[in-house]
Amino acid sequence: MTEYDVIVIGAGAAGLMCAAQAGQRGRRVLVVDHAKKPGRKILISGGGRCNFTNYDVTANNFLCENPHFVKSALAQYSQWDFIGLVATHGVAYHERDHGQLFCDDSAKDIVNLLLAECDQATINQRYRCEVHDIEQEEAGFRLKLNGEPVRCQSLVVATGGLSMPKLGATPFGYQLAEQFGLKVLPTRAALVPYTLHQEDKTRFADISGVSVPCSITTESGVCFSENLLFTHRGLSGPAVLQTSSFWQPGEAVTIDLLPSESLKDVLVAMRDKHPNQTLKTSLSRLFPKRLVEVLIARDSLPDKPLKQLDDKQFDQLHHYVHQWSIAPNGTEGYRTAEVTLGGVDTHAVSSKTLEARDIPGLYFIGEVLDVTGWLGGYNFQWAWSSGWVAGQHV
Ligand code: FAD
Repeated sequence: MTEYDVIVIGAGAAGLMCAAQAGQRGRRVLVVDHAKKPGRKILISGGGRCNFTNYDVTANNFLCENPHFVKSALAQYSQWDFIGLVATHGVAYHERDHGQLFCDDSAKDIVNLLLAECDQATINQRYRCEVHDIEQEEAGFRLKLNGEPVRCQSLVVATGGLSMPKLGATPFGYQLAEQFGLKVLPTRAALVPYTLHQEDKTRFADISGVSVPCSITTESGVCFSENLLFTHRGLSGPAVLQTSSFWQPGEAVTIDLLPSESLKDVLVAMRDKHPNQTLKTSLSRLFPKRLVEVLIARDSLPDKPLKQLDDKQFDQLHHYVHQWSIAPNGTEGYRTAEVTLGGVDTHAVSSKTLEARDIPGLYFIGEVLDVTGWLGGYNFQWAWSSGWVAGQHV
């Protein structure tokens, strides 16, 4: 029977990082994946340019039932370590808003970087490989790979979450955790667009494609100021994706379409200066024209010169623009979600090594764990940090 020191299940971001590190420590490593090639999510991430980390990473950028859990791994392998690795491989990158770092050319550069790191050691890789019949033995694990029995001392579960089943996402990691008696916290699609009730969908049908800066606040009081995008299915854009991780079904969100100014003050100032300017023209200086139509139609406001509108009408519009409450019908679910909330309970896993506390030799890394980053490169940073740390201990 073929024996390895380490078998990593999942050749995604976390699994490849872990395999490379373990291999560079001289461990005999096999990384397996049921997909036909490695890093498929990396390749489509960040619109093809992979938002691979962020200049500003703290534990506050992650959702986890055990809020201190991420600290150790993020400290052991930080964003600066990964940025250094990117520079070593000569990958060109740039910064966008909020400290987000993207490849200049292609997300392929990140997959190639990981594969080059694997090539610095002899890492065996097997694709289109199904894993079955995992059993614990005295000195490790026995499992079947496409029916062939193999053994390893350390087994690393890096099978990710449930988002994008088309790209090979499966609940394998959760099932394995449960097989070994680890708790799995309920999962839910996150960083995902909202869908709308039919009435709202009809109301916004004509503004599909319109994008505006805004602030969105959830009922739990979490607020993100970024862009909102109206789509033919509902609401998307970074502000929506961010809040979706904190939103609970049945709740409403409050959207402020003009977060940096008071609409009433702006309209009053415009009325003083340009009393004959119509409401539509005035609003068009603040919002895209197609959105203005929706704003006016909603409150049945007349498109009259500003001097003919009273403060009550301004108040009405002010309230709508700054406190537009909308109850999403749901989300687009795992089909389009970037990540999965919940997963393997981190209380059962060492934050210092990523090894299961009660199952020596079994490791969980990346998104399969109950660790979910904000939008902005945090999910990849978690994959790099947790993969690197496990790679030092397997
Ligand atoms: P994955 O990268 O998902 O890898 C898991 C691997 O396990 C896969 O290769 C899969 O084929 C394999 N696998 C699953 N089940 C089995 C099984 N039963 N047997 C064998 N193999 C199996 N995050 C960012 O930080 N920045 C971004 O720009 C960004 N953009 C994204 C865009 C999209 C469209 C999506 C879907 C996600 C994006 N993310 C982004 C999130 C990020 O991709 C994930 O958080 C990250 O890939 C998780 O790494 P992972 O290694 O844990 O899991």
